[in-house]
Amino acid sequence: VFHNEAWSTLLRTVYSVINRSPHHLLSEVILVDDASERDFLKAALENYVKNLEVPVKIIRMEQRSGLIRARLRGAAASKGQVITFLDAHCECTLGWLEPLLARIKEDRKTVVCPIIDVISDDTFEYMAGSDMTYGGFNWKLNFRWYPVPQREMDRRKGDRTLPVRTPTMAGGLFSIDRNYFEEIGTYDAGMDIWGGENLEMSFRIWQCGGSLEIVTCSHVGHVFRKATPYTFPGGTGHVINKNNRRLAEVWMDEFKDFFYIISPGVVKVDYGDVSVRKALRENLKCKPFSWYLENIYPDSQIPRRYYSLGEIRNVETNQCLDNMGRKENEKVGIFNCHGMGGNQVFSYTADKEIRTDDLCLDVSRLNGPVIMLKCHHMRGNQLWEYDAEKLTLRHVNSNQCLDEPSEEDKMVPTMKDCSESRSQQWLLRNMTLGA
Ligand code: UDP
Ligand code: MN
Repeated sequence: VFHNEAWSTLLRTVYSVINRSPHHLLSEVILVDDASERDFLKAALENYVKNLEVPVKIIRMEQRSGLIRARLRGAAASKGQVITFLDAHCECTLGWLEPLLARIKEDRKTVVCPIIDVISDDTFEYMAGSDMTYGGFNWKLNFRWYPVPQREMDRRKGDRTLPVRTPTMAGGLFSIDRNYFEEIGTYDAGMDIWGGENLEMSFRIWQCGGSLEIVTCSHVGHVFRKATPYTFPGGTGHVINKNNRRLAEVWMDEFKDFFYIISPGVVKVDYGDVSVRKALRENLKCKPFSWYLENIYPDSQIPRRYYSLGEIRNVETNQCLDNMGRKENEKVGIFNCHGMGGNQVFSYTADKEIRTDDLCLDVSRLNGPVIMLKCHHMRGNQLWEYDAEKLTLRHVNSNQCLDEPSEEDKMVPTMKDCSESRSQQWLLRNMTLGA
C-alpha cells in the first residue's frame, strides 16, 4: 500500500520482490494506491509495471482510507495461498521469502515477520538490523523494540537461526496464510490512516490461538523516515488515539487503565462502534489479556499483578511524585498533586518495583538520589517494600525510606534512615479515571 510514495523507493520495493523471490513462489504483486496525489503514480506507473516479469496489479482506493483499509482491499483481491504485506519503501534481500513461507508451511497459524534491516533515509544505504530485539509496547501503546529476554534465548537453546516468538510486531512487513488471515479477523476496518493496527493484530493473534514470530533468516530492509509524505485528516494525535482506544477496548480488558491513566484526554476521544470486533473475540473464544501478559509477555511494561496504579502522595506535604520530564536517568520529581494522571501515575507492582511506564524508581547510593531508570526486572536497586500500616516506602538494598524534599531542593524527594515521621508516609492510590 502507498500514499504519495517516491518513485525510486516504490520501484526499489517492487524490483527487489521480483528479482529476489523464486518465481514459483510468487503469484503476483499487488500495489494499492491509497488515493495518492502525485502524477507519476497514475498512468506512468501503470505503463511501467506492464513490462515487468511478474504480474503487477494496481488497485486504486476511491478516497484516502489509510493503510488498514488499503491493505484489506489488497488482501481481498489477492489470489496466493499466503499474503505478504510490505511497506512501499522496502528492499527484500536474497533468500528473504523462503524461510517465511517454510514456517507457515510448518504451522499455518504462525504469522511471521522478517528481520527489518535499516535503509537510511539520508543516503539510502542498507544496514543490517538486529536479531537480538523483539517487539513490545509501552503504557502509551507505542510500539517499541526491546532486547530478546533470556527466557526466549533459552527456549531456542541459544540457536539464533530459530524464529523468535515476539509479543508484538512492527506491522509493516509480515506474511500470513490467506485463509488464516480471514479466520482470525483480518484487520479492524474501523481504524483510520495509520497506527494501532499492529498491536491490535498482535494481541489478537496471541489471544486467539495463533503465534507471532520473527524469522531471523529472513531479512527485508525498510526506509525509516523522519517525516511522512502524508497528512492525518483530523490530526495525528486524534487518529492514533482513536485507533488505540479501539484496540484497548476490545483486547486489553482492565489493563486498558494503564493506557488511559497515563494519557489524560484520551478517554474523551470517540472511538466509534467496536461491537463487531468484540463479537469476533467472543466467536474465536480468545483468551484474556492477563493470559497474554503472563504467558507471552511476562517482561511487559504493564505488570500483570500490581498493588496500586495512580498517584503516590506524601502525607505531610500532600504533594505527589511526578516524573516531570519523563526522561531516563533523571531524578524523579515531586509536585502539587493534580489528579490528571499523566506524569503523576505510578504503579507499585507485585514485583515490588515502583514504575511509571518503562521507568523504575532506582536508588544506587546511601541518601539517594532517586533516579528514573529503565526497569530491569532484576530487583536489586529497584526493589521497594511498602508497609501498608506505617505507610513507608523502604528501599530494600539501602534499607532507607523515601522522604519529602530537603530544604536545598524542593523539587525532588530524598532518601533517609527510616523513622516514624509523617514525611516518610505515602498514600498509594488506585486513582479513579477522570471523566
Ligand atoms: N500508507 C497508506 N495510506 C496512509 C498512510 C500510509 O497507504 O494513509 C502506507 C505508506 O505509504 C506505507 C505504509 O502505509 O507504505 C506504512 O506507512 P509508513 O511507512 O508511513 O509507516 P511507518 O513505516 O513510518 O510506520
Ligand atoms: Mn514505512
